[in-house]
Amino acid sequence: RPVIWWIRRDLRLRDNPALTAALETGGPIIPLYIHDPQDEALGAAPKFRLGLGLERFAKTLEGHGSRLTLRKGDALAVLREVIKESGAGHVIWSRLYDPEAIKRDTEIKEQLKAADITVKSTGGRLMFEPWTVETKDGGMYKVYTPFWKAVRDREVEGLIDAPAHLPKPDAWPATDELADYNMSAAMRRGAEIVAGYCRVGEDAALEQLDRFLEERVATYKPDRDFPGRAATSELSENLAWGEISPHRMWHLGAQAMRDGKQGAEHFLKEVVWREFAYHLMYHSPHILTRNWREEWDGFPWQDDPGEALLRWQQGQTGYDFVDAAMRELYVTGKMHNRARMIVASFLTKHLMIHWKFGMQWFEDCLVDWDPASNAMGWQWVAGSGPDAAPFFRIFNPDGQLDKFDPKGRYVRNWLAEGQSDPPQTATDFFAATPMSWELSPKDTRARPIIDLKRGRERALEAYHDSRDKS
Ligand code: FAD
Repeated sequence: RPVIWWIRRDLRLRDNPALTAALETGGPIIPLYIHDPQDEALGAAPKFRLGLGLERFAKTLEGHGSRLTLRKGDALAVLREVIKESGAGHVIWSRLYDPEAIKRDTEIKEQLKAADITVKSTGGRLMFEPWTVETKDGGMYKVYTPFWKAVRDREVEGLIDAPAHLPKPDAWPATDELADYNMSAAMRRGAEIVAGYCRVGEDAALEQLDRFLEERVATYKPDRDFPGRAATSELSENLAWGEISPHRMWHLGAQAMRDGKQGAEHFLKEVVWREFAYHLMYHSPHILTRNWREEWDGFPWQDDPGEALLRWQQGQTGYDFVDAAMRELYVTGKMHNRARMIVASFLTKHLMIHWKFGMQWFEDCLVDWDPASNAMGWQWVAGSGPDAAPFFRIFNPDGQLDKFDPKGRYVRNWLAEGQSDPPQTATDFFAATPMSWELSPKDTRARPIIDLKRGRERALEAYHDSRDKS
Protein backbone atom coordinates (compact mmCIF):
# COMPACT_ATOMS: atom_id res chain seq x y z
CA ARG A 1 0.00 0.00 0.00
CA PRO A 2 1.20 3.53 -0.69
CA VAL A 3 2.84 5.57 2.03
CA ILE A 4 2.19 9.27 2.51
CA TRP A 5 5.34 11.24 3.22
CA TRP A 6 3.90 14.35 4.84
CA ILE A 7 6.43 17.09 4.09
CA ARG A 8 6.59 20.06 6.42
CA ARG A 9 9.97 21.67 7.18
CA ASP A 10 12.10 19.03 5.52
CA LEU A 11 12.45 20.05 1.90
CA ARG A 12 15.33 17.71 1.16
CA LEU A 13 16.12 14.24 -0.10
CA ARG A 14 19.40 13.73 1.74
CA ASP A 15 19.68 12.97 5.47
CA ASN A 16 15.95 12.70 5.75
CA PRO A 17 14.88 9.95 8.17
CA ALA A 18 11.21 10.41 7.26
CA LEU A 19 12.01 9.65 3.63
CA THR A 20 14.20 6.71 4.67
CA ALA A 21 11.33 5.32 6.74
CA ALA A 22 8.97 5.80 3.80
CA LEU A 23 11.38 3.92 1.50
CA GLU A 24 11.69 1.12 4.05
CA THR A 25 7.98 0.35 3.85
CA GLY A 26 8.66 -0.81 0.29
CA GLY A 27 5.47 0.85 -0.92
CA PRO A 28 5.00 3.63 -3.44
CA ILE A 29 5.56 7.08 -1.92
CA ILE A 30 3.19 10.03 -2.11
CA PRO A 31 5.03 13.21 -1.08
CA LEU A 32 2.33 15.50 0.30
CA TYR A 33 2.47 19.11 1.43
CA ILE A 34 -0.58 20.43 3.30
CA HIS A 35 -1.11 24.16 3.42
CA ASP A 36 -2.89 24.06 6.77
CA PRO A 37 -3.95 26.94 9.04
CA GLN A 38 -0.60 26.88 10.85
CA ASP A 39 1.27 27.56 7.62
CA GLU A 40 -1.36 30.04 6.52
CA ALA A 41 -0.58 31.98 9.73
CA LEU A 42 3.15 32.27 8.99
CA GLY A 43 4.66 35.74 8.75
CA ALA A 44 4.87 37.36 5.30
CA ALA A 45 8.51 36.57 4.45
CA PRO A 46 8.60 33.05 5.92
CA LYS A 47 5.45 32.12 4.02
CA PHE A 48 6.86 33.59 0.83
CA ARG A 49 10.15 31.73 1.34
CA LEU A 50 8.32 28.49 2.06
CA GLY A 51 6.56 28.95 -1.29
CA LEU A 52 9.92 29.34 -3.07
CA GLY A 53 11.19 26.23 -1.30
CA LEU A 54 8.16 24.18 -2.28
CA GLU A 55 8.42 25.24 -5.89
CA ARG A 56 12.05 24.13 -6.01
CA PHE A 57 11.41 20.92 -4.10
CA ALA A 58 8.60 19.95 -6.44
CA LYS A 59 11.11 20.13 -9.31
CA THR A 60 13.65 18.10 -7.34
CA LEU A 61 11.06 15.41 -6.77
CA GLU A 62 10.20 15.35 -10.45
CA GLY A 63 13.88 14.77 -11.18
CA HIS A 64 13.61 11.66 -9.01
CA GLY A 65 10.58 10.24 -10.74
CA SER A 66 8.17 11.53 -8.12
CA ARG A 67 5.68 14.33 -7.64
CA LEU A 68 4.67 16.75 -4.89
CA THR A 69 0.98 16.70 -4.10
CA LEU A 70 -0.31 19.99 -2.72
CA ARG A 71 -3.49 20.31 -0.70
CA LYS A 72 -4.98 23.02 1.45
CA GLY A 73 -7.04 22.70 4.64
CA ASP A 74 -7.07 21.16 8.08
CA ALA A 75 -4.18 18.68 8.15
CA LEU A 76 -6.13 15.74 9.59
CA ALA A 77 -8.99 16.21 7.17
CA VAL A 78 -6.60 16.39 4.22
CA LEU A 79 -4.68 13.32 5.33
CA ARG A 80 -7.94 11.38 5.63
CA GLU A 81 -8.94 12.50 2.16
CA VAL A 82 -5.64 11.50 0.55
CA ILE A 83 -5.64 8.17 2.42
CA LYS A 84 -9.10 7.47 1.07
CA GLU A 85 -8.22 8.46 -2.47
CA SER A 86 -4.92 6.61 -2.64
CA GLY A 87 -5.49 3.63 -0.35
CA ALA A 88 -2.38 4.61 1.63
CA GLY A 89 -1.63 2.50 4.70
CA HIS A 90 1.16 4.60 6.25
CA VAL A 91 1.75 8.25 7.08
CA ILE A 92 5.27 9.38 7.95
CA TRP A 93 6.60 12.79 8.87
CA SER A 94 9.58 14.51 10.40
CA ARG A 95 8.89 16.07 13.82
CA LEU A 96 8.38 19.73 14.64
CA TYR A 97 8.76 20.99 18.18
CA ASP A 98 6.70 24.13 18.68
CA PRO A 99 3.68 23.63 20.94
CA GLU A 100 1.04 24.14 18.25
CA ALA A 101 2.61 21.63 15.90
CA ILE A 102 3.06 19.12 18.72
CA LYS A 103 -0.61 19.45 19.64
CA ARG A 104 -1.75 19.03 16.03
CA ASP A 105 0.57 16.12 15.33
CA THR A 106 -0.31 14.25 18.53
CA GLU A 107 -3.98 14.41 17.71
CA ILE A 108 -3.41 13.35 14.12
CA LYS A 109 -1.33 10.39 15.27
CA GLU A 110 -4.08 9.21 17.63
CA GLN A 111 -6.84 9.62 15.09
CA LEU A 112 -5.02 7.89 12.26
CA LYS A 113 -3.88 5.03 14.45
CA ALA A 114 -7.48 4.55 15.52
CA ALA A 115 -8.32 4.21 11.83
CA ASP A 116 -5.69 1.45 11.44
CA ILE A 117 -3.16 3.59 9.63
CA THR A 118 0.49 3.06 10.53
CA VAL A 119 1.87 6.39 11.65
CA LYS A 120 5.49 7.23 12.25
CA SER A 121 7.20 10.46 13.17
CA THR A 122 10.96 10.73 12.87
CA GLY A 123 13.76 13.07 13.87
CA GLY A 124 15.81 14.87 11.27
CA ARG A 125 15.30 18.50 12.10
CA LEU A 126 17.63 18.32 15.10
CA MET A 127 20.73 16.35 15.97
CA PHE A 128 19.68 15.91 19.58
CA GLU A 129 16.03 15.32 20.35
CA PRO A 130 15.21 17.78 23.15
CA TRP A 131 14.10 15.10 25.62
CA THR A 132 17.32 13.12 25.24
CA VAL A 133 19.50 15.82 26.75
CA GLU A 134 19.06 15.96 30.53
CA THR A 135 20.95 17.39 33.46
CA LYS A 136 22.14 15.03 36.19
CA ASP A 137 18.87 15.67 38.05
CA GLY A 138 16.83 14.77 34.98
CA GLY A 139 15.89 18.38 34.23
CA MET A 140 16.36 20.68 31.26
CA TYR A 141 19.45 22.75 30.57
CA LYS A 142 18.99 26.48 31.06
CA VAL A 143 22.55 27.54 30.28
CA TYR A 144 24.28 26.99 26.96
CA THR A 145 27.80 25.94 28.01
CA PRO A 146 26.74 22.89 30.08
CA PHE A 147 24.36 21.97 27.23
CA TRP A 148 27.26 22.12 24.78
CA LYS A 149 29.40 19.97 27.09
CA ALA A 150 26.59 17.45 27.38
CA VAL A 151 26.24 16.99 23.63
CA ARG A 152 29.60 17.72 22.03
CA ASP A 153 30.90 14.13 22.25
CA ARG A 154 27.65 12.46 21.32
CA GLU A 155 27.30 10.30 18.30
CA VAL A 156 25.44 12.23 15.60
CA GLU A 157 23.47 10.17 13.12
CA GLY A 158 25.31 9.49 9.88
CA LEU A 159 24.61 11.07 6.52
CA ILE A 160 22.21 9.50 4.06
CA ASP A 161 22.43 9.91 0.28
CA ALA A 162 19.45 10.90 -1.81
CA PRO A 163 17.66 7.94 -3.39
CA ALA A 164 17.97 7.83 -7.18
CA HIS A 165 14.21 7.32 -7.54
CA LEU A 166 11.22 7.39 -5.30
CA PRO A 167 8.80 4.52 -5.99
CA LYS A 168 5.64 5.98 -7.46
CA PRO A 169 2.01 5.00 -7.10
CA ASP A 170 -0.08 3.70 -10.00
CA ALA A 171 -1.99 6.98 -10.03
CA TRP A 172 -1.11 10.32 -8.48
CA PRO A 173 -3.66 12.02 -6.26
CA ALA A 174 -5.00 15.31 -7.61
CA THR A 175 -2.91 18.31 -6.66
CA ASP A 176 -3.57 22.02 -6.22
CA GLU A 177 -1.53 24.65 -8.02
CA LEU A 178 1.03 26.28 -5.73
CA ALA A 179 0.27 29.67 -7.30
CA ASP A 180 -3.29 29.42 -5.96
CA TYR A 181 -1.99 29.51 -2.41
CA ASN A 182 -0.74 33.03 -3.10
CA MET A 183 2.12 32.68 -0.70
CA SER A 184 3.49 36.13 -1.46
CA ALA A 185 0.17 37.87 -0.82
CA ALA A 186 1.23 39.29 2.55
CA MET A 187 4.51 40.71 1.22
CA ARG A 188 3.87 44.42 1.30
CA ARG A 189 7.37 44.91 -0.06
CA GLY A 190 8.79 43.93 -3.41
CA ALA A 191 8.72 40.15 -3.19
CA GLU A 192 10.87 39.70 -6.29
CA ILE A 193 13.61 41.83 -4.70
CA VAL A 194 13.63 39.64 -1.59
CA ALA A 195 13.62 36.53 -3.80
CA GLY A 196 16.81 37.79 -5.48
CA TYR A 197 18.61 37.53 -2.15
CA CYS A 198 17.35 34.05 -1.29
CA ARG A 199 19.36 30.89 -1.72
CA VAL A 200 16.72 28.29 -2.40
CA GLY A 201 16.96 24.52 -2.40
CA GLU A 202 19.01 21.59 -1.24
CA ASP A 203 21.68 21.71 -3.96
CA ALA A 204 22.32 25.40 -3.40
CA ALA A 205 22.58 24.82 0.35
CA LEU A 206 25.09 22.00 -0.07
CA GLU A 207 27.21 24.10 -2.42
CA GLN A 208 27.14 26.92 0.09
CA LEU A 209 28.27 24.62 2.91
CA ASP A 210 31.21 23.44 0.77
CA ARG A 211 32.11 27.02 -0.10
CA PHE A 212 31.94 28.05 3.55
CA LEU A 213 34.18 25.19 4.66
CA GLU A 214 36.65 25.82 1.82
CA GLU A 215 36.84 29.59 1.91
CA ARG A 216 35.47 31.00 5.12
CA VAL A 217 35.77 28.67 8.08
CA ALA A 218 39.46 29.38 8.65
CA THR A 219 38.68 32.97 9.58
CA TYR A 220 35.20 32.31 10.98
CA LYS A 221 36.08 33.01 14.59
CA PRO A 222 37.69 36.44 14.16
CA ASP A 223 35.48 37.57 11.28
CA ARG A 224 32.02 36.31 12.18
CA ASP A 225 31.16 39.43 14.15
CA PHE A 226 31.84 41.81 11.27
CA PRO A 227 28.67 42.21 9.24
CA GLY A 228 30.56 43.75 6.31
CA ARG A 229 32.62 40.58 5.80
CA ALA A 230 31.20 37.49 4.15
CA ALA A 231 32.40 35.29 6.99
CA THR A 232 29.53 33.09 8.14
CA SER A 233 27.81 30.14 6.48
CA GLU A 234 24.53 31.96 5.65
CA LEU A 235 22.77 28.62 5.95
CA SER A 236 20.11 29.57 8.51
CA GLU A 237 17.62 30.14 5.69
CA ASN A 238 18.12 26.59 4.42
CA LEU A 239 18.05 25.08 7.89
CA ALA A 240 14.77 26.86 8.58
CA TRP A 241 13.04 25.03 5.71
CA GLY A 242 14.95 21.81 6.10
CA GLU A 243 16.87 22.18 2.83
CA ILE A 244 19.98 21.06 4.68
CA SER A 245 20.31 18.93 7.80
CA PRO A 246 22.23 20.11 10.86
CA HIS A 247 23.78 16.64 10.75
CA ARG A 248 25.53 17.46 7.49
CA MET A 249 26.80 20.75 8.88
CA TRP A 250 28.04 18.88 11.94
CA HIS A 251 29.81 16.04 10.14
CA LEU A 252 31.43 18.20 7.47
CA GLY A 253 32.32 20.81 10.10
CA ALA A 254 33.86 18.11 12.32
CA GLN A 255 35.87 16.84 9.34
CA ALA A 256 37.14 20.39 8.75
CA MET A 257 38.14 20.49 12.41
CA ARG A 258 40.07 17.22 12.05
CA ASP A 259 41.73 18.71 8.99
CA GLY A 260 43.01 21.46 11.25
CA LYS A 261 40.78 24.21 9.93
CA GLN A 262 40.64 26.99 12.47
CA GLY A 263 37.16 28.17 13.25
CA ALA A 264 35.47 24.83 12.61
CA GLU A 265 34.88 24.09 16.28
CA HIS A 266 33.39 27.52 16.76
CA PHE A 267 31.07 26.85 13.86
CA LEU A 268 29.92 23.58 15.45
CA LYS A 269 29.21 25.49 18.66
CA GLU A 270 26.97 27.88 16.76
CA VAL A 271 25.08 25.02 15.16
CA VAL A 272 24.51 23.72 18.68
CA TRP A 273 23.06 27.10 19.73
CA ARG A 274 20.18 26.23 17.44
CA GLU A 275 19.77 22.87 19.17
CA PHE A 276 19.83 24.68 22.52
CA ALA A 277 17.08 27.02 21.32
CA TYR A 278 14.92 23.99 20.49
CA HIS A 279 15.73 22.41 23.85
CA LEU A 280 14.49 25.58 25.57
CA MET A 281 11.35 25.84 23.45
CA TYR A 282 10.45 22.20 23.93
CA HIS A 283 10.88 22.23 27.70
CA SER A 284 9.64 25.76 28.36
CA PRO A 285 7.34 26.77 25.47
CA HIS A 286 6.36 29.95 27.28
CA ILE A 287 9.61 31.36 25.87
CA LEU A 288 7.55 32.03 22.72
CA THR A 289 4.97 34.25 24.37
CA ARG A 290 6.10 35.76 27.66
CA ASN A 291 9.13 36.60 29.74
CA TRP A 292 10.99 33.38 30.39
CA ARG A 293 11.85 34.78 33.82
CA GLU A 294 8.72 35.88 35.62
CA GLU A 295 10.54 38.58 37.54
CA TRP A 296 10.60 40.58 34.31
CA ASP A 297 6.82 40.80 34.17
CA GLY A 298 6.79 44.10 36.07
CA PHE A 299 9.42 45.73 33.84
CA PRO A 300 8.03 48.94 32.31
CA TRP A 301 8.55 48.08 28.65
CA GLN A 302 6.33 50.13 26.38
CA ASP A 303 3.33 48.17 25.28
CA ASP A 304 2.03 50.82 22.89
CA PRO A 305 5.13 51.75 20.93
CA GLY A 306 3.59 53.76 18.04
CA GLU A 307 5.88 55.97 15.98
CA ALA A 308 9.17 54.81 17.53
CA LEU A 309 8.49 51.21 16.50
CA LEU A 310 7.67 52.31 12.96
CA ARG A 311 10.90 54.27 12.68
CA TRP A 312 12.86 51.28 13.93
CA GLN A 313 11.11 49.03 11.40
CA GLN A 314 11.77 51.48 8.57
CA GLY A 315 15.46 51.89 9.35
CA GLN A 316 14.87 55.53 10.24
CA THR A 317 16.23 55.75 13.80
CA GLY A 318 19.11 58.00 12.74
CA TYR A 319 21.70 55.46 13.97
CA ASP A 320 23.67 54.00 11.10
CA PHE A 321 24.24 50.50 12.44
CA VAL A 322 20.60 50.07 13.45
CA ASP A 323 19.21 51.51 10.24
CA ALA A 324 21.56 49.58 7.96
CA ALA A 325 20.58 46.36 9.72
CA MET A 326 16.84 47.02 9.60
CA ARG A 327 17.10 47.70 5.88
CA GLU A 328 19.17 44.59 5.30
CA LEU A 329 16.38 42.69 7.01
CA TYR A 330 13.64 44.27 4.95
CA VAL A 331 15.35 43.79 1.62
CA THR A 332 16.99 40.39 2.05
CA GLY A 333 14.86 38.72 4.71
CA LYS A 334 18.07 38.12 6.64
CA MET A 335 20.25 40.02 9.05
CA HIS A 336 23.74 39.46 10.36
CA ASN A 337 23.84 38.06 13.89
CA ARG A 338 25.76 40.96 15.42
CA ALA A 339 23.31 43.35 13.80
CA ARG A 340 20.38 41.35 15.24
CA MET A 341 21.83 41.84 18.69
CA ILE A 342 22.34 45.56 18.16
CA VAL A 343 18.87 46.32 16.79
CA ALA A 344 17.27 44.19 19.50
CA SER A 345 19.22 45.97 22.22
CA PHE A 346 18.35 49.35 20.74
CA LEU A 347 14.63 48.52 20.65
CA THR A 348 14.35 46.95 24.09
CA LYS A 349 16.76 49.27 25.91
CA HIS A 350 17.24 52.66 24.27
CA LEU A 351 13.62 52.75 23.07
CA MET A 352 12.27 50.64 25.96
CA ILE A 353 9.86 48.85 23.64
CA HIS A 354 8.74 45.36 24.63
CA TRP A 355 10.80 42.61 22.97
CA LYS A 356 7.64 40.93 21.68
CA PHE A 357 7.21 43.74 19.09
CA GLY A 358 10.71 43.15 17.80
CA MET A 359 10.21 39.41 17.79
CA GLN A 360 6.98 39.80 15.81
CA TRP A 361 8.64 42.07 13.24
CA PHE A 362 11.41 39.53 12.74
CA GLU A 363 8.76 36.85 12.41
CA ASP A 364 7.20 38.82 9.60
CA CYS A 365 10.44 39.70 7.82
CA LEU A 366 12.93 36.84 8.19
CA VAL A 367 13.25 34.20 5.50
CA ASP A 368 15.22 32.20 8.07
CA TRP A 369 12.51 32.68 10.67
CA ASP A 370 12.71 30.00 13.28
CA PRO A 371 10.39 30.11 16.30
CA ALA A 372 12.96 28.74 18.74
CA SER A 373 15.99 30.78 17.69
CA ASN A 374 13.98 33.97 17.30
CA ALA A 375 12.41 33.77 20.76
CA MET A 376 15.68 32.78 22.39
CA GLY A 377 17.53 35.60 20.59
CA TRP A 378 15.06 38.27 21.65
CA GLN A 379 14.83 37.15 25.25
CA TRP A 380 18.60 36.78 25.39
CA VAL A 381 19.15 40.38 24.34
CA ALA A 382 16.27 41.77 26.40
CA GLY A 383 17.60 40.05 29.52
CA SER A 384 14.39 38.18 30.30
CA GLY A 385 15.50 34.79 28.97
CA PRO A 386 17.49 31.93 30.44
CA ASP A 387 21.24 32.40 30.11
CA ALA A 388 20.52 35.96 28.95
CA ALA A 389 22.83 38.91 28.54
CA PRO A 390 22.47 41.12 31.62
CA PHE A 391 20.07 43.97 30.95
CA PHE A 392 22.62 46.56 31.99
CA ARG A 393 24.87 45.52 29.09
CA ILE A 394 23.50 48.01 26.60
CA PHE A 395 25.08 48.10 23.16
CA ASN A 396 26.07 51.55 21.99
CA PRO A 397 25.25 51.34 18.26
CA ASP A 398 27.88 53.94 17.36
CA GLY A 399 30.56 52.27 19.46
CA GLN A 400 29.67 48.94 17.82
CA LEU A 401 30.15 50.55 14.44
CA ASP A 402 33.69 51.62 15.32
CA LYS A 403 34.45 48.10 16.44
CA PHE A 404 32.68 45.95 13.89
CA ASP A 405 32.33 48.13 10.80
CA PRO A 406 35.31 50.45 11.09
CA LYS A 407 35.52 51.06 7.34
CA GLY A 408 31.77 51.58 7.00
CA ARG A 409 31.44 48.79 4.47
CA TYR A 410 28.23 47.39 5.94
CA VAL A 411 26.62 50.76 6.43
CA ARG A 412 27.40 51.89 2.88
CA ASN A 413 25.85 48.69 1.58
CA TRP A 414 22.49 49.53 3.09
CA LEU A 415 22.19 53.31 3.55
CA ALA A 416 21.78 55.20 0.29
CA GLU A 417 21.26 58.68 1.69
CA GLY A 418 24.25 60.96 1.22
CA GLN A 419 26.00 58.63 -1.26
CA SER A 420 26.39 60.03 -4.77
CA ASP A 421 26.43 56.55 -6.28
CA PRO A 422 24.86 54.17 -3.78
CA PRO A 423 25.12 50.42 -4.44
CA GLN A 424 22.06 48.52 -5.54
CA THR A 425 21.67 46.90 -2.13
CA ALA A 426 21.03 50.36 -0.67
CA THR A 427 18.61 51.47 -3.39
CA ASP A 428 16.82 48.13 -3.34
CA PHE A 429 15.49 49.11 0.06
CA PHE A 430 13.56 52.01 -1.44
CA ALA A 431 12.39 49.92 -4.37
CA ALA A 432 11.10 47.31 -1.95
CA THR A 433 9.34 49.50 0.60
CA PRO A 434 5.58 49.92 0.45
CA MET A 435 4.23 53.21 -0.95
CA SER A 436 2.79 54.14 2.42
CA TRP A 437 6.27 54.52 3.85
CA GLU A 438 7.00 57.44 1.51
CA LEU A 439 10.77 57.08 1.73
CA SER A 440 13.27 58.21 -0.87
CA PRO A 441 17.04 57.78 -1.21
CA LYS A 442 17.24 61.52 -1.81
CA ASP A 443 15.99 62.28 1.71
CA THR A 444 18.50 63.46 4.24
CA ARG A 445 19.32 60.91 6.91
CA ALA A 446 16.77 60.68 9.69
CA ARG A 447 17.58 62.67 12.83
CA PRO A 448 18.44 60.49 15.85
CA ILE A 449 15.25 59.26 17.43
CA ILE A 450 16.74 59.43 20.91
CA ASP A 451 19.92 60.68 22.52
CA LEU A 452 22.03 57.58 23.23
CA LYS A 453 23.12 58.73 26.68
CA ARG A 454 19.61 59.69 27.69
CA GLY A 455 18.17 56.43 26.38
CA ARG A 456 20.76 54.41 28.23
CA GLU A 457 20.15 56.25 31.50
CA ARG A 458 16.40 55.85 31.19
CA ALA A 459 16.76 52.12 30.63
CA LEU A 460 19.13 51.68 33.56
CA GLU A 461 16.85 53.69 35.86
CA ALA A 462 13.91 51.49 34.89
CA TYR A 463 16.03 48.43 35.48
CA HIS A 464 17.15 49.49 38.94
CA ASP A 465 13.62 50.60 39.90
CA SER A 466 12.14 47.28 38.86
CA ARG A 467 14.89 45.37 40.73
CA ASP A 468 14.16 47.40 43.88
CA LYS A 469 10.46 46.55 43.62
CA SER A 470 10.91 42.83 43.05
P1 FAD B 1 26.53 30.93 11.15
O1 FAD B 1 27.36 31.87 11.93
O2 FAD B 1 27.12 30.39 9.91
O3 FAD B 1 26.09 29.77 12.12
C1 FAD B 1 25.72 28.47 11.65
C2 FAD B 1 24.33 28.13 12.14
O4 FAD B 1 24.31 28.09 13.56
C3 FAD B 1 23.26 29.13 11.75
O5 FAD B 1 22.78 28.92 10.45
C4 FAD B 1 22.21 28.88 12.83
O6 FAD B 1 21.40 27.79 12.51
C5 FAD B 1 23.05 28.52 14.04
N1 FAD B 1 23.22 29.71 14.89
C6 FAD B 1 24.20 30.63 14.83
N2 FAD B 1 24.02 31.57 15.79
C7 FAD B 1 22.88 31.24 16.44
C8 FAD B 1 22.16 31.81 17.52
N3 FAD B 1 22.58 32.92 18.14
N4 FAD B 1 21.00 31.22 17.90
C9 FAD B 1 20.57 30.09 17.31
N5 FAD B 1 21.22 29.50 16.29
C10 FAD B 1 22.35 30.07 15.86
N6 FAD B 1 18.36 32.43 13.73
C11 FAD B 1 17.47 31.81 12.93
O7 FAD B 1 17.82 30.84 12.26
N7 FAD B 1 16.16 32.24 12.85
C12 FAD B 1 15.70 33.30 13.59
O8 FAD B 1 14.51 33.62 13.52
C13 FAD B 1 16.63 33.99 14.41
N8 FAD B 1 16.25 35.10 15.11
C14 FAD B 1 17.17 35.76 15.89
C15 FAD B 1 16.77 36.90 16.62
C16 FAD B 1 17.69 37.59 17.41
C17 FAD B 1 17.22 38.81 18.19
C18 FAD B 1 19.02 37.14 17.49
C19 FAD B 1 20.02 37.89 18.34
C20 FAD B 1 19.43 36.01 16.78
C21 FAD B 1 18.52 35.31 15.99
N9 FAD B 1 18.91 34.17 15.24
C22 FAD B 1 17.99 33.52 14.46
C23 FAD B 1 20.27 33.60 15.38
C24 FAD B 1 21.34 34.07 14.38
O9 FAD B 1 21.34 35.45 14.25
C25 FAD B 1 21.22 33.44 13.00
O10 FAD B 1 21.04 32.05 13.12
C26 FAD B 1 22.49 33.70 12.17
O11 FAD B 1 22.62 35.09 11.96
C27 FAD B 1 22.39 32.98 10.86
O12 FAD B 1 23.48 33.28 10.03
P2 FAD B 1 24.42 32.13 9.49
O13 FAD B 1 23.61 31.01 8.96
O14 FAD B 1 25.42 32.77 8.58
O15 FAD B 1 25.12 31.65 10.84
